[in-house]
Amino acid sequence: MTTAVPSHEKAPAAHRKGYVYIIGAGPGDPELLTLKGERVLREADVILYDDLVSSEMIERFNGLKIYTGKRKDSHHFEQDEINEEIVRHALQGKKVARLKGGDPFVFGRGGEEIEVLRKNSIGYEIIPGITAAHGASAYSEIPLTMRKISSSVAFCTGHPINKIQVPDADTLVYYMVASSVHDVLDAVVNKGWKDHTRVAIVQNATRYNQKIFTGTLGELRKREKAVYSPALLILGANINQFINDNWYAKKKKVLVTGDNEMIYNSEEYIVVPFPCHRVEGADMEKVNQCLKIIGDYPVILFTNRFTVTSFFRYLHEYGKDVRYLAKNKIYTSSHAAHAELLKYGVIEDMHVEAERSEDILSMLREKGVEHESILLPCSNSNDDYLANGLISLNNRVTPLSVYYQGAKEQGETIDLDFIDEIYFSSPACVRNFKSCYPTIPETIVVTTPDQKTEAEYRTLFIGNASPQL
Ligand code: SAH
Repeated sequence: MTTAVPSHEKAPAAHRKGYVYIIGAGPGDPELLTLKGERVLREADVILYDDLVSSEMIERFNGLKIYTGKRKDSHHFEQDEINEEIVRHALQGKKVARLKGGDPFVFGRGGEEIEVLRKNSIGYEIIPGITAAHGASAYSEIPLTMRKISSSVAFCTGHPINKIQVPDADTLVYYMVASSVHDVLDAVVNKGWKDHTRVAIVQNATRYNQKIFTGTLGELRKREKAVYSPALLILGANINQFINDNWYAKKKKVLVTGDNEMIYNSEEYIVVPFPCHRVEGADMEKVNQCLKIIGDYPVILFTNRFTVTSFFRYLHEYGKDVRYLAKNKIYTSSHAAHAELLKYGVIEDMHVEAERSEDILSMLREKGVEHESILLPCSNSNDDYLANGLISLNNRVTPLSVYYQGAKEQGETIDLDFIDEIYFSSPACVRNFKSCYPTIPETIVVTTPDQKTEAEYRTLFIGNASPQL
């Protein structure tokens, strides 16, 4: 009888060549990434990502992130350099994720990248993504085919303009039309398409700032030339009149600071996150001192996700894992903190769920949290309300700053013209937002969970701390 060698006895990583995943990120909405893509990105050592991949998506993963796009303020990677970079990391034995907008094999140059991998005998696989045409079609209610009206669809490119093709299909979708919409329309007319054909330009498909321009072929040709980016041009009889009032356009766009996205239901809202937290940079001396005497704190209260991630990072750096906390009782006061703890295999001893510090406090009082010694991981600009309230319940409270609440590192600027509401979760988030956006358009409804945050918003953006009666 022969025995198979168990798979875990393969060559050690250092002697093994890495592995490359070429992954389609989808058209923009971060939820349109496939489950397989998500899993691989979570496991990847290195992530090389393109222009069209949103920072919101990329922020979720921990691998080394290398931007290979063409933003003005960063190094411009040519395709050869990207190929070299992928190969270099793979040859170091790493798991490399190459993340591309849409689908890697639809105008994505995925074919060129695998050629190089084959040459270097590096293993790879390809994970498809939702291409922009499918994203735009679904999020603007333009069926690409329709019984009796359109039985074929072609994906084409509007670049370069001297090579624009007009295939024989009922629906045409043109990619890369940023500045060549008119050239494509001319080419289509030359091929015999009629002036009354319906046309739609879908810009930023599936993103909060999706915008649709519609008209007939004749009308659009008369309009002034404009640049649309990133955008698709779609032509065909399937384009209906109500696409500007489609299911996606009907949702309110709410910008949410902090990690309170869960409070908005997805039927009504599109949440545009504005994370306020930066994890690095706690007072290490104090952190290590607290960890050393962790037994002196029978209770640790985690109020948000960031306190959990930062605290556990420092715990690991201290050379300990969750078993070190075996004797501590752990309390949480938000769903996000609860969910984050689960990732470390921890189920809290007590959970209360409330947004405002006042409500958290009264719930803790109801649960009898008194005469305890509580460690309260928090940010450097913690609001003292909770700590003071707990002290008034005869607890001993040690706030421990585990992360800095600094200005958001701005990947992409949020276009406030598309935003209907803003939710500020704390005074620190108001200050953070102010450092990026000096004013808020009057049309935007602003909500806050408590008086302190409301007062901070009024002081910084309206110029008076109390609401007008
Ligand atoms: N591989 C990608 C296409 C890359 S080519 C895919 O499968 O979608 C880049 C072009 O894709 C852009 O010029 C634009 O025409 C289109 N595109 C990508 N994302 C888009 C979006 N969110 N909205 C509209 N067009 C988009």
